[in-house]
Amino acid sequence: MSNGHSPSESGTNLDPWYDLYADRTAGLSASEVRALFAVASRPEVVSLAGGMPFVSALPTDLVGGAFERVMREEGPQALQYGSGQGIPQLREHILDIMALEGIRASVDDVVVTTGSQHALELVTKLFINPGDVVLAEGPSYVTAMVVFKSFQAEVEHVLMDEHGLIPEALRQRIAEVKAQGRTIKFLYTIPSFSNPAGVTLTWERRLEILEICRANDILVLEDDPYGLLYFDSPPPQAMRSVEEEGVIYLGTFSKTLAPGFRVGWALAPHAIREKLILANEAAVLSPSSFSQYMITEYLNTADWRGQIDTFRGIYRERRDAMLSALDEYLPQLSWTVPNGGFYIWATLPDHLDSKAMLPRAVRELVAYTPGTAFYADGNGRNNMRLSFCYPTPEFIREGIRRLSVVINGEMDL
Ligand code: PMP
Repeated sequence: MSNGHSPSESGTNLDPWYDLYADRTAGLSASEVRALFAVASRPEVVSLAGGMPFVSALPTDLVGGAFERVMREEGPQALQYGSGQGIPQLREHILDIMALEGIRASVDDVVVTTGSQHALELVTKLFINPGDVVLAEGPSYVTAMVVFKSFQAEVEHVLMDEHGLIPEALRQRIAEVKAQGRTIKFLYTIPSFSNPAGVTLTWERRLEILEICRANDILVLEDDPYGLLYFDSPPPQAMRSVEEEGVIYLGTFSKTLAPGFRVGWALAPHAIREKLILANEAAVLSPSSFSQYMITEYLNTADWRGQIDTFRGIYRERRDAMLSALDEYLPQLSWTVPNGGFYIWATLPDHLDSKAMLPRAVRELVAYTPGTAFYADGNGRNNMRLSFCYPTPEFIREGIRRLSVVINGEMDL
């Protein structure tokens, strides 16, 4: 195969351009799981699969009111190309938001991106040559791994437990990879309320991991979309709060406001930040001026801290609904208990295969994401990610009940 991917990976070899695709597209194949998700978006299916924020909880006049004021007061700028770094007014607000997680920075350090997903792409583009290694928690965020693979990085997982990534496992993995003569470029981590595991890295481990990475010249890519969405007490401060030179921090408005704006940001050490801006310009010229002005207006005029509290309350109630339904209907499983974010990671009895079971679940009108999606190495066969962010507590309960029918049916086989 000249382009390094097999017909089955690409989904079809009827594509007349098949032989022309670049090698890096090998990981860009629509999986069968994706096809099932199309079915799972029907209203009668309880989807515990996606990670969609519950944007209906936002004030109804939010967009209309902000739109009118932005157009009246700043229309020409909002409709124009802008700076590749993002508008300064928004970057000022971003400093206030990051201060809530202990981060001190200057307006010049912030680069606005098209969601943090695009920041992941830009950072990967800056650092990865084919064959370079990215370390990531096992399990890790599926679409980050798609990006890493699309630049032909090799993802090596590091073991985690209910307190997050295990420092000793990180040391061992680094030693192994180095002994093989491979180059590690960065550690990708979601320290607070991780996607998909829902666990949080302790403060002591954060410090130890920073130390290990510093000693090994490995950058830390700290992805933090959920840190402000805690349920009881805040998570430990961001890793970037204690280490400026070795950490690229990623934030986003997708979970604390709305993903439709597609606005996130990267906070990077000086030299990297300059390259990030150039890469951002090369990719999109400038992040959406319109979205940035809309968000700035929202932050200037709305009680955004109160809105985050509202989201916390909603997600806490949904997490509780999922935990009590799991207790009631699926006591034979084990699961993580997240103190924030969107996700619970469940472990099925050893002999069950969550991916093979998914078509059956969809027939029972419930969907989840199979664990294998979150590993680059085929692990996670008997795991599943259950999202509690979108369905109401009643639907969550019904979804878990339906899931128990499927799982109990499989156990009887
Ligand atoms: N990182 C993580 C861990 C995520 O869960 C998500 C969204 N699901 C993203 C990044 C991307 O978010 P966005 O591009 O909307 O900011």
